[in-house]
Amino acid sequence: MRDVGGEFLSAGLAIPARYIHMPARFIMSAARPEQFPPEAEPEVAFLGRSNVGKSTLLNALVEAGGLAFVSSKPGCTQLINFYQVDGGFRFVDLPGYGYAKVPQEIRSEWKGLIESYLKERESLQLAVLILDARRGWMEKDVELREWLESEHRPYVVVVTKFDKLKSQKERHESRKALREGYSGELLECSAVTGKGVREIWQAISKTQTRPARTNP
Ligand code: GDP
Repeated sequence: MRDVGGEFLSAGLAIPARYIHMPARFIMSAARPEQFPPEAEPEVAFLGRSNVGKSTLLNALVEAGGLAFVSSKPGCTQLINFYQVDGGFRFVDLPGYGYAKVPQEIRSEWKGLIESYLKERESLQLAVLILDARRGWMEKDVELREWLESEHRPYVVVVTKFDKLKSQKERHESRKALREGYSGELLECSAVTGKGVREIWQAISKTQTRPARTNP
């Protein structure tokens, strides 16, 4: 991996600043499980409702230039995109869920694709479940979280667009709502200000030392 300077964490990732852009390159897209690339390196999968800010967050995590994560258009072919990231692991961009206008048939196709990845993939080390700070837990997010738990998949919850909460009161209310029914870790972030990006990298850097599935 490239030494970007600064302190080193357990898995060898250098976390020098608030904004950390690790070099990354696109590997391939898959529309069906048979197209998934061979399992070569630990994978970190990003998932969330459409428009939650997943592409923006991915762009905040990896080095700008050449690699642009684009928000997938609801209704278009939904793909799982694989990226190679410096430091010996991959980012996997899962299609956004929960877009109401998409026909049921296509919705169940996406669900099948996402579920088969999350269920079968041995190299999946960490799922990053992204929530919008203003919306909190929505039904589909809770379903997904419960499903990850039932599959014993390690995950972290990232709450993005935190900069949109302007007042102390709004932030307090958002945190309170996010805590309802959930006592695990919440990583607050903003792709605009860079808040929390470092903490997300820290969570990711621990994945290579973690077993792929937590024991039941
Ligand atoms: P995706 O569909 O989940 O990939 O969502 P996008 O990354 O395309 O983001 C949806 C919208 O939210 C875009 O207009 C982004 O500019 C905006 N957005 C994403 N993250 C943030 C954030 O942290 N702060 C603010 N203010 N806007 C954001």
